[in-house]
Amino acid sequence: MTDSSIHQGQRAILCNTLKEKGIAGDLVLQAMNRIPRHWFLESGFHQHAYQDKAFPIAANQTISHPSTVAWQSELLEVERGQKILEIGTGSGYQAAVLCELGVRLFTIERQKELFDFSQQMLQMLGYRAEQKFGDGFKGMPVFAPFDRIIVTCGAPYVPKELLKQLKPRGIMIIPVGEGTQKMVRIQKKADGTFVQKVLGDAAFVPMLKDRE
Ligand code: SAH
Repeated sequence: MTDSSIHQGQRAILCNTLKEKGIAGDLVLQAMNRIPRHWFLESGFHQHAYQDKAFPIAANQTISHPSTVAWQSELLEVERGQKILEIGTGSGYQAAVLCELGVRLFTIERQKELFDFSQQMLQMLGYRAEQKFGDGFKGMPVFAPFDRIIVTCGAPYVPKELLKQLKPRGIMIIPVGEGTQKMVRIQKKADGTFVQKVLGDAAFVPMLKDRE
């Protein structure tokens, strides 16, 4: 796969636009500027990959808008070396951005086609993420607790199991709601109680259970 100067130029413009809108800080935008988003899309969409748009990926799912990826990444307040759990690997693009920020990424996807595709992509890009094919409602108890949890599908409610797998002082960013969602930031305090803040509107594909 190639990353032409045209794509690189379009990507730089997109990142500048996101910066001007104040969506994310330099580290997140620099990471996004290093990752060829068009590689995560079908070739028919390559020329549009650096517009702030969501696109269809396999299994009737979508890759999130770049502004949404930037926003969620910023809200996570990640630090290098942190353990982060992502629910909804999808194309693997958001996962790649987090890996590029130097975290230890754990990510779950329930569609086999996307699990396989994202695994190939992350390996090709040289990232070492722990990927699971399964149900994100269950999290990854074997690797818990996590410093951060990011949910990239619309959750009908905040899964209890994920709250349990968050470290004290950890942060979860999760779109909650049926149909459309509200982006919610949940912080677990040192005493194990939670502080919740609603941040704005979101529109993700739904978070589904095992057999739906
Ligand atoms: N982060 C992705 C966004 C993909 S869309 C990206 O950058 O491309 C959301 C993804 O969540 C879809 O791939 C969908 O299959 C997945 N998903 C939905 N419910 C899930 C669940 N219970 N467990 C794991 N993944 C789930």
